[in-house]
Amino acid sequence: MPKPTKPELSKYRAMLEQQLRTLTGDVGAMREEALRASDQDNSVDHLADQGTDNADQAFTLGLIENEEETIGLIREALDRIDDEEAAIPYGACLQCAEEVDGKNRKKTDMWIPKPRLEYIPWARYCIQHQQEAEKDREIA
Ligand SMILES: [Zn+2]
Repeated sequence: MPKPTKPELSKYRAMLEQQLRTLTGDVGAMREEALRASDQDNSVDHLADQGTDNADQAFTLGLIENEEETIGLIREALDRIDDEEAAIPYGACLQCAEEVDGKNRKKTDMWIPKPRLEYIPWARYCIQHQQEAEKDREIA
């Protein structure tokens, strides 16, 4: 896999910024919604719905958490695009980069495949290492 070219980096940066704007807006709106739900009056009529509301709220809070995680990953990706001295440059798999360094091989096989970056421009791992990272998280 070749490393991303300058025009590709600009394209990924634009995608990341767009996604960041969308998510930041979403999280703000959802948080307001969740707060409003918890502010609602506790009249008798309303108590019957309380269970559903709590479930909705937990669901919304879960979404917020996921989106905030993605926002963090997007910011990290943007930092790596901007930092030409980054230890691991944007577009490289964090895990592959570590292994490449260790074995002192050519740095060409640590790049995340471009179709994957087109789809998830904030990806930190190649598909293989992403799967391993997710497996670790399930066990943890
Ligand atoms: Zn990898």
